[in-house]
Amino acid sequence: MANALAGRAAGGEAGAPDGGTPLRMLLLDVLRGQTRPAKAYALLDALSQRLGRRVLPPTVYRTLDWLVAPGFAVRIERRDAYVANRHAGSDEDRLFLLCSRCGGAEEMLDRRLAELLATDARAAGFSVARSVVEVEGTCRDCAAEAGRAGAAG
Ligand SMILES: [Zn+2]
Repeated sequence: MANALAGRAAGGEAGAPDGGTPLRMLLLDVLRGQTRPAKAYALLDALSQRLGRRVLPPTVYRTLDWLVAPGFAVRIERRDAYVANRHAGSDEDRLFLLCSRCGGAEEMLDRRLAELLATDARAAGFSVARSVVEVEGTCRDCAAEAGRAGAAG
């Protein structure tokens, strides 16, 4: 069920999934328009602006929960922020490279990492429901910029 939903979410254009109220679909649209992981209050502002009325925080959190559960959106724990799921049909194993300079997040799916995590978890008798690996560091652009600044100064 979750995978079917995520697949349809990633497919996107085929209309709203089951339970996809206008508010939920609008928030998903707002999330998809973000270039960086977005905090709940920023999403609340964007959503309120799009609707032309103030949306209350519990509504936004409830809607975010609804989007995260089947994999339409992913919560980045280290940032307390959210991104839209950009990888079709996979809501289980994600790797986020988080830049501590610009706040950017690059999302990757790495099969080898997923298999390694699953194998280690199995060995520990642990059953994985979902995993999100968050790696903090410096992105390519920021590293290049730092390099240029270093060369100039
Ligand atoms: Zn960066």
